[in-house]
Amino acid sequence: MNILVIGGGGFIGSHLSEEILNRHSDWYLTSIDIDSQKVSHLLGNKNFNFVSLDILKESVEEHVKRCDVVLPLAAIANPATYVTDPLRVFELDFEANLRIVKLAVKHNKRLIFPSTSEVYGMCTDVDGFDEEASNCVTGPICKQRWIYSTSKQLLDRVIYAYGDRLNYTLFRPFNWIGPRLDNIESAGHSRVVTKFLSDILRGRNLVLVNGGQQQRCFTYISDGIDALIKILENENKCAERKIFNIGNPNNELSIRSLAEKILYMARNYRSLQKHLDGVSIVEMDSADYYGGSYQDVTRRIPSIRRAKECLGWEPIVGIDDLLQRTMDFYFKW
Ligand code: NAD
Repeated sequence: MNILVIGGGGFIGSHLSEEILNRHSDWYLTSIDIDSQKVSHLLGNKNFNFVSLDILKESVEEHVKRCDVVLPLAAIANPATYVTDPLRVFELDFEANLRIVKLAVKHNKRLIFPSTSEVYGMCTDVDGFDEEASNCVTGPICKQRWIYSTSKQLLDRVIYAYGDRLNYTLFRPFNWIGPRLDNIESAGHSRVVTKFLSDILRGRNLVLVNGGQQQRCFTYISDGIDALIKILENENKCAERKIFNIGNPNNELSIRSLAEKILYMARNYRSLQKHLDGVSIVEMDSADYYGGSYQDVTRRIPSIRRAKECLGWEPIVGIDDLLQRTMDFYFKW
């Protein structure tokens, strides 16, 4: 099978590439990205071809033509950018990805597309969000943080609308975490776990936005990748024209508990010990932290019934293990 991963040099793309090359010697991978750092260890593999290309500037049509299946993973998935540069999010996450979706239709290629848990927005279902039944609830237009959620949601709807003309699978990651998630050395914005790790490394306080009462279900990257491999394998067409939540409902934690856990575990790492005296957990209003166009999501629990039934998939890595493996990567290497 010839697989095209666009944004393949990112967190999910790099782990997926590694696992594909480990498990399937007859699968060939073309990875497109503007950054090859996270896949530098794969560059010598004969089944792996890295193409440096900016999808905002160049077409990927020739690559789509040559593959059997395409995974468009390039996106900005960072809450701070949703409010500081919403149009950049729209141009990459929506416009550039829509062009790829249309190419998949035009050349009759299978499409595996990353939706997101964010599409459920402020859905209040407490027993787990259901891919086919739960509402997608977003806020007013002035709350620009919804640009990411609605960009993804509209692509979900477009892909679904192609119906019989497109062989697709949509997957919705719920806070996938692990090694290589973000660069914690750079001062840039990153996702919550790596933001806290980066703050500790700099001796800065861990900031809880709106008290850190928001609950999230954290999923270890290897569990997420297992699901993606099953989707790619597509045994008996089990993944075709389906939407799957891929998350770990057993790893639900408030952001406050997450900060406390990370701070506690940080004592085990020599490179962090010297910074810990200066680090506390503090609270900040979301309007002061993100600006007025932010809005929060309180709880987000996936129903994974469909992934269990259709893919035979279940996550196995618990929250403590997940955090330890991630911190080991950043601070023991
Ligand atoms: P990531 O930021 O680590 O990877 C995205 C990659 O896209 C990066 O390597 C980046 O260099 C590349 N890219 C950005 N602009 C590009 C351009 N113009 N041309 C070519 N490449 C470009 O993100 P990720 O965590 O690997 O997420 C992959 C996908 O999964 C995204 O669509 C994201 O929205 C979705 N997703 C991820 C999570 C998660 O928990 N990680 C959750 C929900 C959805």
